[in-house]
Amino acid sequence: MIIVPLGVASATPTTTRHLSSAAVWREGSIYLFDCGENTQMRMLQAGMKRSKIDCVFISHLDIDHYTGIIGLLSTLQLQRRERELKIVGPKGLKEFIEFNFKFAEVDITFPIEYLELEEEGFEHEVVVDEEEFYVEARPLEHTKFCLGYRFQEKDKPGKVDAEKAQKQGISEDWQYKELKAGNDVTLDDGTVVKSREIVGHPRPGDSFAYVTDTVYCRNAVKLGKNTNVLYHEATFGSSLKDKAEETGHSTASDAARVANESKTKLLVITHFSARYTNPYVLLREARDEFHPTWIATELRPIMTDPSHERGIIQPRVSIKEFNNKKKGNKNKSGGKKKSKGKKKKKYRKRKKASSSKNKGSKSKSSKRSSKSSSSSSKNRKKKKKDHKKKKSNDDQDRQPKHITPRTPFDDFDRF
Ligand SMILES: [Zn+2]
Repeated sequence: MIIVPLGVASATPTTTRHLSSAAVWREGSIYLFDCGENTQMRMLQAGMKRSKIDCVFISHLDIDHYTGIIGLLSTLQLQRRERELKIVGPKGLKEFIEFNFKFAEVDITFPIEYLELEEEGFEHEVVVDEEEFYVEARPLEHTKFCLGYRFQEKDKPGKVDAEKAQKQGISEDWQYKELKAGNDVTLDDGTVVKSREIVGHPRPGDSFAYVTDTVYCRNAVKLGKNTNVLYHEATFGSSLKDKAEETGHSTASDAARVANESKTKLLVITHFSARYTNPYVLLREARDEFHPTWIATELRPIMTDPSHERGIIQPRVSIKEFNNKKKGNKNKSGGKKKSKGKKKKKYRKRKKASSSKNKGSKSKSSKRSSKSSSSSSKNRKKKKKDHKKKKSNDDQDRQPKHITPRTPFDDFDRF
């Protein structure tokens, strides 16, 4: 199972953080938790196909958590999706979606199964139950009805000791299947082969809890109980504890408390207030109380099992490729002399700094004055002539680096 944070901002996006959403990748299917307005673009940038989404789970109806679903559904419609999509969320979600498409005079032609949960008396519900996993929902404590989710794989059967089985006379497939299912097998000669002697202990399934927009509450602990990854909001630091309570949010310390009480293996904090330009302040606070904590970084995958890492998520553009492309284009674009001139100017400062450190001040000052005066006047003329030609090429090159997905081979999120 792989978790890809798609948006980690709270309430308002910043230049580097987008609105709430996290994707869970499992066996070729994607399960989306919340759908802020940028979600479908972030999926593209993460190299995740939107057509692979099976279910969307919405936590609550605050605008930063669900408005992206209209654009996403529109894209799925344009992609001619035929497969059913399941949408789970608080009551009112279906009305919102249907109103939007009616307003735009668009017919959604693929089937959507809605499961809306009502606040009154709601305690717990299994909202998805498949052969290999289930998803449960519990109410959290926010300024409005808000749901937390837990994605739980069912325990996998233990490994079969084939050698032992053969010795006891097991030879056919159906017999192995019976043993794996926990049933004893009676052979033709009447001897009984016991399942528990052949099959090892069941292996616990993967688990992931999505808890956002809540103050500390018992249901958050229940959702996170013994999970591999607890994805929990940490909107504020402890210095803004009062504000957190007033707005129905958690501090980093609250998130760590839930992690401690639920005995999760890894806490990932998310949903950072825009006032924290550096969320590492929140990380430090959470780590003081619960050490295996990490920050949700957009597009950086979190593997629940490190052995699943390689080759599963391929970034659209690797950082190496991106850099090479940029260099190549520049050389082609501006002619040899001109591009060289520009390059020299760019790198001169660095060279000087390093040479002055290494070699001392032998001929530093004279070199500096002669080179800089001659080259700067040349460059001014070249710049003017070349400006129009280069502009178009530069615009193509000028992609902001932060949208480049990180590779999944980064050690950061392994645990
Ligand atoms: Zn929020």
